[in-house]
Amino acid sequence: MASEPIGGDEQSELTPDSWAVWAGRPRNVGEPLNTPIVTASNFTEPSAYARSTGTPTWESFEAVLGGLEGGQAVAFSTGMAAVSAVLDLVPVGGHVAIPSDCYQGVALAVEAGVAAGRWTAGELAVTDTDAWLDALATADLAWLESPTNPLLEIADLATIAAAPRSGLLAVDNTFATPLGQQPLKTGADISVHSVTKFLGGHSDLMMGATVVGDDGLFERLARRRSLGGATPGSLEAFLATRGMRTLPIRMERGQRTASLIAERLADDPRAHGVRYPGLADHPGHELAASQLGGFGAMISFEIVGGAEAADRACRTVRLIHHTTSLGGVESTMERRAAVAGQEHLPAGLLRLSVGIEDPEDLWRDLCQALDG
Ligand SMILES: *Cc1c(COP(=O)(O)O)cnc(C)c1O
Repeated sequence: MASEPIGGDEQSELTPDSWAVWAGRPRNVGEPLNTPIVTASNFTEPSAYARSTGTPTWESFEAVLGGLEGGQAVAFSTGMAAVSAVLDLVPVGGHVAIPSDCYQGVALAVEAGVAAGRWTAGELAVTDTDAWLDALATADLAWLESPTNPLLEIADLATIAAAPRSGLLAVDNTFATPLGQQPLKTGADISVHSVTKFLGGHSDLMMGATVVGDDGLFERLARRRSLGGATPGSLEAFLATRGMRTLPIRMERGQRTASLIAERLADDPRAHGVRYPGLADHPGHELAASQLGGFGAMISFEIVGGAEAADRACRTVRLIHHTTSLGGVESTMERRAAVAGQEHLPAGLLRLSVGIEDPEDLWRDLCQALDG
C-alpha cells in the first residue's frame, strides 16, 4: 500500500512495506535474525540502567517505528504513558488545545490537569481549521487526532502544521498508523501512538510510543520516560516488533474489507450515518484522500432502532467480538455511547474495527447482527 521510499538512512531505497520487515534486526555475522527478549535491568558500563538507557528489545521496536515516520521513537509502557509524557512538556499555567472528538483517555487526562490547576484547556472541532490556526497562537500544546476516535473526523494536518505556532503540535496517529500518514513530514513536532492497537495488531500487549524529529525533544521525552518510569516490558517490545513485521499486509487487508463493508452499510436500510473516510460523501473524504495513504480499518455507523438495536447487535455478533479495543487481527465492535463519559455520542453509534477475517464471513455476521 505505501510505496514512497523511506528517506534519510542507509536503506533509503526501501519502501515502508519493506522497512517494516527489514529494520530493527541484529546485523552482525552469526547473530540471530530477531532481537531476543532481553530481560535485564542492568547492563555493563557504559550502558547502565535499563530504565534510563533502554534495552536492545525496545530499541529494535523504536528503530522500526522511527524509520517509518522519519524520526526518533521513544517506546512507552502504554499509549497513555506516551500521552502523559507529551502532556508533561506543557509548562505549569500553559494552555492545551484538544479536539472535541478524540480518544477519551486524552480528554480525561487533559481534564484532570485542568482540575488540578496544572493548565487551561480548550476543545475545538478537529475539522474547524480556522479555530486551530487561532489556537496555535496561544497554545503550549496543540493536540490533534486524525482520523478521530470514534467519529472518524479528518483534520487538515498540512494547513495546521504549516501555520505559525507558539508551542508544540502533536498528532495522535493511532488510527492512521505510520503507513497511512507521517505527521512529522507534514510539519508536526510529535507523533503519538497507542502501539496496543494496529502496530501490535494482536490484542496481546500494551505499549505506546512518541516519534519526534528534533534531538532536543527526543531527549526530553526519553527523560520523561526515565523519570516517569513508564518503560515497556521486553516481552511487549518483542511482540510489538513482531507485529510491525506484518503491519503492511494487515492494514492492506483490513482497509480493503473496511471499505467494502462501509460501502455496503451506506446502501443498507438497517444502517445510517456511516462514517468512513473512504466514502465519497464523508465530509473529510477529499482531505483524507490527499493526506492518507489508506482510509484505515475503522468504521463508525448508526443502526436503525438506536441504542436498543445497537446493544442487540453487539450481543448477536458471533465472528466479530463485542469488546472495546481495536486494531487487532480480529474484528471488534462496541456501542460507544454505552461507555461512561461518552453519552454525548449518538446513542446507536457502533464503532467497528475491521480485522483480517474473510470479508464475506464478516459481512454475513454483521448482517445477522443487524437483523437482531
Ligand atoms: C487506545 C488509544 C490510546 C491510548 O493507548 P493505550 O495503549 O490504551 O494506553 C490513545 N489514542 C488512541 C487514538 C487510542 O485508540
